[in-house]
Amino acid sequence: MPMKTPLRALVIGAGMAGLTAARILEDHGLSARILDKGRVPGGRISTRTSSEGWSMDHGAPFFTARDPAFRRQVEAWAAAGIAAPWTGRIGYLPRHGDVEPASEATRWVGVPGMRAVPLRMARALDVRTGVEVAPLVGPAAGGEASAGSGRWVVAGDAYDLVLVTAPPAQASVLLGAAHPGFAATLAGVGMRPCWALMLRIRRRGGRPGILPWDALFLKDHPVFRWVARDSSKPGRDEDGRAGDPVESWVLHAAPGWSEHHLEHEDIRVAGTLAAEFMALVGRLGGKAGGPAVDLLVETARAHRWRYAAPEDAAAPGEPAHPGRCLWDAAAGIGVAGDALGGGRVEGAFLSGAALAREVLVSTGAGSPPR
Ligand SMILES: Cc1cc2nc3c(=O)[nH]c(=O)nc-3n(C[C@H](O)[C@H](O)[C@H](O)COP(=O)(O)OP(=O)(O)OC[C@H]3O[C@@H](n4cnc5c(N)ncnc54)[C@H](O)[C@@H]3O)c2cc1C
Repeated sequence: MPMKTPLRALVIGAGMAGLTAARILEDHGLSARILDKGRVPGGRISTRTSSEGWSMDHGAPFFTARDPAFRRQVEAWAAAGIAAPWTGRIGYLPRHGDVEPASEATRWVGVPGMRAVPLRMARALDVRTGVEVAPLVGPAAGGEASAGSGRWVVAGDAYDLVLVTAPPAQASVLLGAAHPGFAATLAGVGMRPCWALMLRIRRRGGRPGILPWDALFLKDHPVFRWVARDSSKPGRDEDGRAGDPVESWVLHAAPGWSEHHLEHEDIRVAGTLAAEFMALVGRLGGKAGGPAVDLLVETARAHRWRYAAPEDAAAPGEPAHPGRCLWDAAAGIGVAGDALGGGRVEGAFLSGAALAREVLVSTGAGSPPR
């Protein structure tokens, strides 16, 4: 008996939204290929590994899980050993006053780095990295998306459906000619940038830990909104080996500061943020137990995230867009991503899952997941 040809879907973007959508479509008998312009899958869930042997999470530092479906998924990652709760001492620094403990929410991290999660998700999927998709042209014909229609020709291959999961500004460019309606909707979704700094700091002369906190949320701070000792996360290399210990810190500049310095050179940004961090350590130093002068910055690398987070992140658990995705069944094209799903890793997961569900329902390709 001849095999039924599966619907062929192209997913643009191998971040959490794209990987989730592709996994669900594959589980329901569709064929999904992912193209991503990055060097490795993961998008904004990212771990920088250096030739000097260190690695740090310079994108999303952790994620929370509130929705039951996402919680089930996170528990499966934990059971597989690629995610674990981060039980660091996490504080909250108000504009005026002292550090206080942050909320008790469970904060999950990938193990041994955040990237472990998308790498595992990508493993059993057809993911091609280093491929930047040009603005879409098409669809080549009208009618319902049907298997073998090959209505979308992208990077030399024909697909029945296209799912776009790039951040809104990039997705809007991809869709400008192919779906002006979606392009216009996405053009109106603002994203804010974030300069991230990866720091390696040596503690000399028996100086105690740099701060008595593993991470701080900073409220209304002119420079930072988050600083974290990356090496305090589970499964990371310990700071201290032989000799003076070295701590790994990742700092996120506040959105306003990042916007103001957006086009500055990374070396200049690295120097400024490192100096600002040392000033912060000095300010909190009286309580931290050691002078900043005993600290030696060995490495400072800055990374610019032009589209770090949606401007108006929805309240945790709330979708930013009704249905968490955009889907045009007649054209066989859809959009997912954190900006539609409510921000954050969880929002990206829920958005990718919502779009896959729309595809399954409208094409009758399988029963949608709950
Ligand atoms: C500094 C920072 C801090 C964060 N902090 C947190 C946090 O504490 N908690 C939390 O839950 N979340 C956090 N986030 C947000 C979280 O990382 C995102 O919400 C989530 O990873 C978004 O996933 P996504 O799939 O929607 O998009 P992305 O991860 O951005 O994936 C989109 C992909 O599309 C690809 N792409 C774009 N254009 C093209 C093209 N033309 N051709 C091919 N590929 C293309 C990109 O390369 C990218 O890989 C943070 C993000 C950053 C940057």
